[in-house]
Amino acid sequence: MTSQPRIVIIGAGPTGLGAGYRLQELGYDDWVILEAADYVGGLATSFTDDKGFTYDIGGHVMFSHYAYYDDLVDKLMGGDYTELEREAWVWMEDRFIPYPFQNNIRALEPQTVFECVEGLVRAQREQRTFENFKEWVDALFGPGIAKHFMIPYNFKVWATPAELMNFVWIGERVSVVNSEAVLRNVLLGEDQVSWGPNNTFKYPLRGGTGFLYDGLRTYVDDHLELETPVASIDPVAKQVRTKDGRTWDYDVLLNTMPLNRLVDSMESVPETVRAAKDGLHWSGSHIVGVGVDRPANSTKNWIYFPEPDVPFYRVTYLSNYSPYITPKPDQTLFLTETSRSQHKPEPADTIVDRVIDGLIATRLMDESDRDLIATTWLCSPDMSYPVPSTTRDAALGTIQPWLRSQGIWSRGRFGAWLYEIGNMDHSAMQGVEFVDHVLSGEPETVWIPRGEGEQGAGIR
Ligand SMILES: Cc1cc2nc3c(=O)[nH]c(=O)nc-3n(C[C@H](O)[C@H](O)[C@H](O)COP(=O)(O)OP(=O)(O)OC[C@H]3O[C@@H](n4cnc5c(N)ncnc54)[C@H](O)[C@@H]3O)c2cc1C
Repeated sequence: MTSQPRIVIIGAGPTGLGAGYRLQELGYDDWVILEAADYVGGLATSFTDDKGFTYDIGGHVMFSHYAYYDDLVDKLMGGDYTELEREAWVWMEDRFIPYPFQNNIRALEPQTVFECVEGLVRAQREQRTFENFKEWVDALFGPGIAKHFMIPYNFKVWATPAELMNFVWIGERVSVVNSEAVLRNVLLGEDQVSWGPNNTFKYPLRGGTGFLYDGLRTYVDDHLELETPVASIDPVAKQVRTKDGRTWDYDVLLNTMPLNRLVDSMESVPETVRAAKDGLHWSGSHIVGVGVDRPANSTKNWIYFPEPDVPFYRVTYLSNYSPYITPKPDQTLFLTETSRSQHKPEPADTIVDRVIDGLIATRLMDESDRDLIATTWLCSPDMSYPVPSTTRDAALGTIQPWLRSQGIWSRGRFGAWLYEIGNMDHSAMQGVEFVDHVLSGEPETVWIPRGEGEQGAGIR
């Protein structure tokens, strides 16, 4: 590689924009971002409809693990943000209980509380081995919490059976509880609501989450090619071909499009690598927004829905994030997320009606609110969650080393295919660290080189 490599970046989502921002910050000039869409931001884009309601592609909250990203967010937002304390709830058994479920079960039916506590105490006494997410749930929480919340809720989120998922992603994503905390909750009435990394978060005052990435665009505009989808990559000639017929030479390539699609678009791929991509699984979603012409009458931020009677797994009161999400004051914007996959088909033509029925069934809306619906919005990304399947790490362990041998870094939510580092801050930092690694030899610290045997088995 030359000491001044020609860098091509595929995708202008948070990962590609993070890389571009870092390159301009360093004053480096030999690079380009190729983006298929006519806008930047990827899955972190926001859209405003012709009625003036602003939507994210699912409820995005901003919290960060990295000082560099915090500084960048501060620079982009200035003082134009709201800072919120998480108010998250779970709706089940016809009532709201505080999130996380497993820390706050006392409000449920006595029989449910009994099954959860008895199962947890038993599970924590036993030493059980586990090899997949379902077995991990059973071993850590016992059959009661598994049956009433963990298994049905996670199926709604992932659209994938828990036995097909690994457990290496859990870290910050699932609150692991001990039986003493549960007994304190049930017997002493102590609720625990502050668990997790996002218990306070920021949100842009105007323009939704995408405001951030529109801001980043101004730093990369001179090197940005919008409406330029990549069609194929020749790793031998080190050349990217775009659909418009142009070719782009590179010394190093940062890919942020989905890893399986990258492999599909490459020439001269070894058969083992091509076969390995079948181990990558994902889910898509229907994101439905419903704008209602009346005040929210609630301070909630978002609510989780483990039960199968409503399609969505989460509803965000997006209008509680900023007064400018709705065109007029005293209006409400619900943003709902419903997952879909081969295991969980969700027809698109009925989803908006089913979501409205679900909002009424769970009492977020009244029947009479139907007449007050000012707008609805549907966005259905084919790929929204990179599923941490039991086959994922073996696939990554085959694909990623080969890509690296070809001068290709594949990073970001679907580029790295690692849900555990798939948030905006992780993604933007993977872009930044790619640049520091390629230009200065700095180690990458955010991206994790998963491989076969990573998942292994566990015991508790
Ligand atoms: C429902 C949902 C909720 C979320 N909630 C949060 C949250 O609360 N907090 C948080 O931090 N993160 C959240 N995220 C994650 C966040 O959206 C991602 O971290 C981030 O968007 C990933 O950035 P990326 O650049 O890696 O990928 P993407 O955003 O997917 O960007 C990839 C880009 O590549 C482009 N591209 C694809 N194929 C090609 C091609 N052939 N040629 C050229 N360009 C191409 C795409 O158009 C896109 O712009 C959520 C995501 C979803 C789906």
